[in-house]
Amino acid sequence: MKIEDFPKDIQDYIIPRPSGKLIYRCLGCGQEFGIEKLLYTCPSCRQVLLIYDTDRDRLKSTAGKTWRRIFDFRKMLTIPALKGIYLFHEFIGPVMPLESIVYLGEGHTPVIEANGRIQERAGARFYFKNDGQNPSASFKDRGMASALSYINYLIQQGHVSDVLAVCASTGDTSASAALYASYLQPAIKSAVLLPHKKVTPQQLAQPLGSGAMVFEIPGVFDDCMKIVESLSENFNVALLNSKNAWRILGQESYSYEIAQAFEYDVKNKVVLVPIGNAGNITAVMSGFLKFFDAGIIDHLPKIIGVQSEHANPVYQYYLEPDTAKRRFVPVAVRPSVAQAAMIGNPVSMPRVMFLVDEYNQKAGAQKIFMAQVAEQEIMDWQLIANRNGHVACTHGGECLAGLTVALKNGWVGPGEVAIVDSTAHALKFSGFQDMYFENRFPGDYEVTPRADLMNAPLFIHPADVEQVPQPGRPLEGDALKRFIQRVSEEIATLLDLKRI
Ligand SMILES: *Cc1c(COP(=O)(O)O)cnc(C)c1O
Ligand SMILES: [Zn+2]
Repeated sequence: MKIEDFPKDIQDYIIPRPSGKLIYRCLGCGQEFGIEKLLYTCPSCRQVLLIYDTDRDRLKSTAGKTWRRIFDFRKMLTIPALKGIYLFHEFIGPVMPLESIVYLGEGHTPVIEANGRIQERAGARFYFKNDGQNPSASFKDRGMASALSYINYLIQQGHVSDVLAVCASTGDTSASAALYASYLQPAIKSAVLLPHKKVTPQQLAQPLGSGAMVFEIPGVFDDCMKIVESLSENFNVALLNSKNAWRILGQESYSYEIAQAFEYDVKNKVVLVPIGNAGNITAVMSGFLKFFDAGIIDHLPKIIGVQSEHANPVYQYYLEPDTAKRRFVPVAVRPSVAQAAMIGNPVSMPRVMFLVDEYNQKAGAQKIFMAQVAEQEIMDWQLIANRNGHVACTHGGECLAGLTVALKNGWVGPGEVAIVDSTAHALKFSGFQDMYFENRFPGDYEVTPRADLMNAPLFIHPADVEQVPQPGRPLEGDALKRFIQRVSEEIATLLDLKRI
């Protein structure tokens, strides 16, 4: 839709202008730093940072109702820079001129209501939000669009040049980083570090396909992360892990989209997200808080962070009810089908601690809960979901399993509606489905397939058919007729089809 066709009172707002005053704030010592330089940790105390808009009160001078109309009308624009996460420009990267924004199709992923059958089985009304339908097939594209748009801005301003972007990854961060970096060639090149044999073949194929330098490192993600941290402290590289606070800003779009998808009524909503490095849950909390502060939503929804028993440091931390006694202890991870969340020492843990307190305090009640689920439940619920029309990844299964825990614990009651995060596309993790269907999970996963959820292809080659077609050698005449007839008969028998 063209600007002149929008209602008069909206026209002035529809295209955002650079505004706001962003700074990095240290969560340890509270010091603030300018954003002209890329900064990942506090130069004084090494703690993680969050980006704040010191001029955010200006957002309150626009009424919540007006913001809602602005965002809803913006959906009709055809300007690429505003078609993705920057539809919420004022809340994500208000300093960013539209010319710097990189849009590769991220954000505005579908929110799909589950069918009655599976809702009944899970015990609650719920939707999947399919973040696997982002361009690199995971939610990481939200944060990458933000981080790379900002680096693009710094390049355009002449603040940096010849950027080498690096990240450690459980698979999806590198796929996303490599994708966005490849779009900005040659100004930005990317290098990714992956734990050897701990990412799926699809996740390895993605950065290779995008032309990134790919390094496989012995150990698990936490080891890769230490190497990337050492690189970013000693060499001139741009860090694209979620230590980079720009990633968090972009991922806040997930919350804004949920608000918008439910017409900004989030009162009875429960948002379930998996926790790995804890960047995602940080962003989800932060996003809802910003919309709440600006009066765009009237309530803060419940948020349930879900972890596997095999990688559960955040769950363990919040097990202790006495806040004064809580102590964070990293865990040694065990193999998990929620492989992108197989992290024992989450980088964003200080952000989580800080935001959980703020969130519950502003909500006036406990709204954040941490659930733990078994590997078996993750696989079973993923497969059940996908048998009912979804394309959920293992982490989507993890969240759905988390919903059943939340119901059992009474954290979620009748009348509440859950939004379950499928953080990636099912196809990225199809290897785990193969292991389930072929009953070949190594023992340490602790997954035993249920017969009713297994599936396998049947090879049809009737014993009395000698000649079958082969590539380059098609059948003809009677041989072809016989092949078609006998194979059809065999399929009809197996399916118990009735003749017409
Ligand atoms: C990264 C990732 C996670 C974990 O998110 P964090 O921000 O690290 O907590 C979960 N699922 C998928 C598919 C991911 O790629
Ligand atoms: Zn500090």
